[in-house]
Amino acid sequence: MAVITKKSKPTKLAAKDLAEKIKKNALKKQKEDEEKNKLISPVNKKEKPVESVVSPEDELKFKTFSELKLVPELLESIQQMKFTKPTPIQSEAIPHALEGKDIIGLAQTGSGKTAAFAIPILQALWEAQTPYFGLVLAPTRELAYQIKETFDALGNSMGLRSVCIVGGMEMMDQARDLMRKPHIIVATPGRMMDHLENTKGFNLKNLKFLVMDEADRLLDMEFGPVLDKIFKVIPSKRTTYLFSATMTNKIEKLQRASLHNPVRVAVSTKYQTADNLMQSMMLVSDGYKNTYLIHLLNEFVGKSIIIFARTCAHTQRTSLLARILGFSAVPLHGQLTQAQRLGSLNKFKSGKANILIATDVAARGLDIPSVDVVINYDIPTDSKAYIHRVGRTARAGRSGKSISLVTQYDLEMYLRIESVLGKRLPKDPSPPREILDALHVHVDRATAEAIRQTKDFHEKRNDKIGGKKRRDDRDREER
Ligand code: AMP
Repeated sequence: MAVITKKSKPTKLAAKDLAEKIKKNALKKQKEDEEKNKLISPVNKKEKPVESVVSPEDELKFKTFSELKLVPELLESIQQMKFTKPTPIQSEAIPHALEGKDIIGLAQTGSGKTAAFAIPILQALWEAQTPYFGLVLAPTRELAYQIKETFDALGNSMGLRSVCIVGGMEMMDQARDLMRKPHIIVATPGRMMDHLENTKGFNLKNLKFLVMDEADRLLDMEFGPVLDKIFKVIPSKRTTYLFSATMTNKIEKLQRASLHNPVRVAVSTKYQTADNLMQSMMLVSDGYKNTYLIHLLNEFVGKSIIIFARTCAHTQRTSLLARILGFSAVPLHGQLTQAQRLGSLNKFKSGKANILIATDVAARGLDIPSVDVVINYDIPTDSKAYIHRVGRTARAGRSGKSISLVTQYDLEMYLRIESVLGKRLPKDPSPPREILDALHVHVDRATAEAIRQTKDFHEKRNDKIGGKKRRDDRDREER
């Protein structure tokens, strides 16, 4: 248009023609923009995106992975992972993804969503074989590591190179890893941006796939500025997947991710807690955690209780603490011999001990119908573990209660659990300060003794095994 106005001196008639032409062009452009907008923002335009909502009982779009014409290397890994049939979110998302569509996937952790986005990316990667092929952004470090593990397992047979780039780790090490030209980068946004700005020779100009996991959280205000910076330096021509348990309808947020013709797929929640389970949380300060725990044990005296702790050492120490203070408690963790583990479990099952203190070895599969209370002494590091843990009570139609002790350090993890549950849990009131303070003196003394005895336990155990690694040694942080 600049050409028209500057170079020609139109006659009156020509000017009219030109005006027509300009109007026509403008209309054409408007129509094109509308089309484009329709693709970018179906939610805003009130035009329904291609949408499918399935429940776990619905018929699957494909029954086996071999129907999908995946490359043999990928199929082999899927078989090794023992995925015999797709989960509902995989069944809905993968066929669209293999057609090259952008995806908005509503699915929770535990639904198989990671493989739902990893499989189509790996399939495309097999064809392309280029570095810096896919970037997966996640809001937390733990989630990033988990996603990388799934990619590694699925890409195992195809020589996948992946890297996890999160805060709290050495920038230099990460820069070196990025220079090795990984195919897939799983990252938290802040650290990714750091490398994009500061790591010489590294860029994402050839990126083909962007995934935002827990996208709803990523698109929240706090990540906004960093995400906008990342979006500026990655190609706009790419495939984008947004996965989240809940998804915003706010168009400004979704537009930020510049989706093209997205297909929206959703599955109803797979993980639910029993209706007859009363769940609550208690905010505790880290230094008083043991005191709160002992207070709760006093409150629930006579009830059958499982207490979950994160590590073998915590478990051992807490069970010693409870015993020193006169409770009938037994430990269950991976640093006990199998005989000791069975012994503890049998004592608890038979009612000889009414408190079992355990790592997540006890979270799954244990069938003890008569557990009244589950206490999360340590918050589990993944939400599925939470569901499994609290699922130890309120079984077989009985009612049950679970309480999570949440310190200032657990808040991020705890909020993730609430987001998977899809609800806020009620907060139990703190016991009166005088009661806590009076109890704290005894608990503190008993804790010191429990720590000493735990040290003895480890020393004796190390002497016994003579430094030789046994199988159980490897799962220090019990799963
Ligand atoms: P995610 O929702 O991605 O955290 O996955 C939850 C769990 O389901 C992970 O342990 C996966 O290994 C597992 N999983 C994913 N897809 C399948 C499948 N098709 N069959 C069986 N397990 C699966």
